[in-house]
Amino acid sequence: MNYTEKQLKSIAKECTEFEHIINAMGYGCSLLNVSPDEYERRCSDCINWFDGSCKIFKKEFSQYQ
Ligand code: SF4
Repeated sequence: MNYTEKQLKSIAKECTEFEHIINAMGYGCSLLNVSPDEYERRCSDCINWFDGSCKIFKKEFSQYQ
């Protein structure tokens, strides 16, 4: 299943469980020199994503359509 950028972003925007993979790895943004552009809040960059098997995502996605 492929999701669009728009779907991944709009669901992540509403989600309280979002945790960026870069944060989770324990690196600060400055260390990796990640600009805000690259640090986008989208489900596919979340530690709970698990290749699309996040339960919250699935629930939100079913309501989104
Ligand atoms: S992957 Fe799941 S936990 Fe992460 S932002 Fe999306 S819906 Fe929320």
